[in-house]
Amino acid sequence: MEARLRRAFLRPILEEEPLASRVLTVATSPYARLAFAGVAGAVVVWGVVNAVTAVGAMNRGIERPVVATATVAAAKPVPPPPPPPAFVFDAPLPGRVVNSPFGLRQMPWEENGRLHEGVDIAAPAGAPVHVATDGVVVRSGTSSTYGRFVEVAHKDGFRTFYAHLGRDAGLKSGTFVRRGATVAYVGDSGRSTGSHLHFELRNKGGLPLNPVLFMGKSFAEADDLPLKAAAKVGSKVRLAQVSRWPDGVKARDAEGQVTRVKGGRVRVRINVIDG
Ligand SMILES: [Zn+2]
Repeated sequence: MEARLRRAFLRPILEEEPLASRVLTVATSPYARLAFAGVAGAVVVWGVVNAVTAVGAMNRGIERPVVATATVAAAKPVPPPPPPPAFVFDAPLPGRVVNSPFGLRQMPWEENGRLHEGVDIAAPAGAPVHVATDGVVVRSGTSSTYGRFVEVAHKDGFRTFYAHLGRDAGLKSGTFVRRGATVAYVGDSGRSTGSHLHFELRNKGGLPLNPVLFMGKSFAEADDLPLKAAAKVGSKVRLAQVSRWPDGVKARDAEGQVTRVKGGRVRVRINVIDG
């Protein structure tokens, strides 16, 4: 009973021609094919026209900027960045002053002037000493006159020398040091007259140069280095003013009598003749 009812209900639907077959019938009729071909043809033509237009537009787009860029480049050439300077020298104790310059100098206990082969920069003991320019530590040790010292070799045969040190920074020979690196600490060792750094700069021939002409300066090329000016030694002899005499030197009293220093310290006034 139930099955028969369902069949009766479904029969009209099943007996109807399916929608898909009707569409197929319409599509396969000669008129429909003609119409379809016409529409397809129109779509193809539209596509081709569009493509041609688009390519044309793209070509125009490409051509214009190329021409424009070439014109701008010719009018305003971009200069290449300047090369870094060939030589850069820092002061070993930045911000501190040279209190005994390069040149002929007579110490109060000496008979004649002699060349002070570097500069003296006063600084408190323990102040870090910075290497003036990139280099390699070549020597460190102790001398009776210079006290503790460190020597650094630089490009083009330059050498810097740091003396009367409290201590070095423990850098072994052959250690590469960048400009500004701490190579030592200020002290009062050797034949020193107070806490200071004795700083020398020499050329590849070992000739002492006036470090003041290099400290805190950059040079674009080797030709710009003030080598001649820095090697010049004036005829003026400066009598050094010292805060105390070094241990073991002889002192002269007011009458010009030479007396031995006791305990290394002399408490007499030293007249400074600075021409
Ligand atoms: Zn000195």
